[in-house]
Amino acid sequence: MITTKGYAAKSTTSGLAPWEFERREPGPTDVLIKILYSGICHSDIHQVKSEWGPAIYPIVPGHEIIGRIEQVGSDVKKFKVGDLAGIGCMVRSCGECDYCKNGQEQFCQKGKTVWTYNSVDADGTTTYGGYSDKIVADEAFVLHVSEKLNISKAAPLLCAGITTYSPLNRWKVGKGHKLGVLGLGGLGHMAVKFGVSFGAEVTMISHSPSKEADAKKLGAHKFCNTKDPEQVKALAGYFDFIIDTVSAPHDYNIYFNMLKVNGVHICVGIPPVPMEFMGNSLMRGNRVLTASSIGGIPETQEMLDYCAEHNIHPEVEIVPIDYVNTAYERVLSSDIKYRFVIDMASLAN
Ligand code: NAP
Ligand code: ZN
Repeated sequence: MITTKGYAAKSTTSGLAPWEFERREPGPTDVLIKILYSGICHSDIHQVKSEWGPAIYPIVPGHEIIGRIEQVGSDVKKFKVGDLAGIGCMVRSCGECDYCKNGQEQFCQKGKTVWTYNSVDADGTTTYGGYSDKIVADEAFVLHVSEKLNISKAAPLLCAGITTYSPLNRWKVGKGHKLGVLGLGGLGHMAVKFGVSFGAEVTMISHSPSKEADAKKLGAHKFCNTKDPEQVKALAGYFDFIIDTVSAPHDYNIYFNMLKVNGVHICVGIPPVPMEFMGNSLMRGNRVLTASSIGGIPETQEMLDYCAEHNIHPEVEIVPIDYVNTAYERVLSSDIKYRFVIDMASLAN
C-alpha cells in the first residue's frame, strides 16, 4: 500500500485537517501520479457539507488534479514516467456499455461510474481525491496535459473547464450567438473564456457589481448587474443561450425571460434545493431548459488540447493547503478570483 498525505473532513462541520491514508499499489493498467496542483471546486464544498446526500467520511475532496507520472503499471500504454497528467471528476466506469464506449463515461449504463472522491471503487474501497500528495488511477481516466500549458493554472480545466466547454461545444455556441453567463466564479469565468473563444457575444450576468471590470478583462462584451432591475429589464428576450453556473438557490423566471424565442437555458450549477419556476416563463417563447454534467474523457482531452493550442488558462489564486478552510469561506461568499488552486508542495511543510 502507498501511504498518502492529504487533507480530509471528518464530518459536515469539522472543516478540513491533515489526514494520512493508504492508496493501492498501481496495478497493470494504473499510473501513480505525484500531485502538483489541485483546484477547489464548489462541488467539493457541497459534498464536504453532505448537501447532495450523505458523504462518506473522512472525505478527501479534489477533482481538478495536475501532476507528474511517477510510476506506471506493466500494461500502461499512454504514459511514461515524467509525463504531465491530469485527473478530473471520474476514475473508473464499466468500459463496456454504449455510453462508456462513446466517451460518456459519466453516464455509464451499468451505474459503475466511480467518482474521484466520495465514491466506492470497484474493489469496494472509498476513493480519495486531489487534496493529497499522490493518486493512483487507471490510465483510461488519466488525461495528457500539454507542456505548453502553465501547470500552476491548468488544474481547474479538469472540472470547471470541461463542464463549461462541453455544453457550449454540444450546442454549437459561436459566431452570431448572444451568450449570457450567469455567475462569475470558477465555472462562470471559464464559460466567458470559451464563449469568447468560440466567437459568441458574451454578457456576464452577476449579482456582484464589483466584478464588472474583471468580467470585461476576461473578455465579456457586456455586464448585467442583477441587483439593478433596469439592467435586468433591458435584457428581456435577448439571449440565444444562457449558461447558469450559480451554486445557490435563485429565481429562474428572471433568466428564462432573458431568452429569445427558442432560447436555451443550460444548467450546470447544482444548488442543493429543487428548482422552482413558473411553467409560463419557459413556455412563452418555446424556451428550452437543459442541463449538462461534466464531460467524457475524450472530450476532456479535446478541451485540454484546445486550451493548450489557444492559450486559454483559468485565472487562479494559488494557496497553501492549510488555507483550504478559509478558501471555502471565501468561495461561499463569492469572494473568488476566480478559482483557488492548492499548491500541493505545501503539504510537505
Ligand atoms: P463558484 O466559484 O462558487 O461560483 C458560483 C457563482 O455563482 C458565484 O461566484 C456567484 O457569482 C454566483 N452566486 C453565488 N451565490 C449566488 C446567489 N445566491 N445568487 C446568485 N448568484 C450567486 O462555484 P463553481 O465552482 O463555479 O461551481 C458552480 C456550481 O456548479 C456549483 O453548484 C457546483 O457544484 C456546480 N458544478 C457542476 C458541475 C456539472 O457537472 N454540472 C461540475 C462542476 C461544478 P456572481 O458573484 O457573479 O453572482
Ligand atoms: Zn468540480
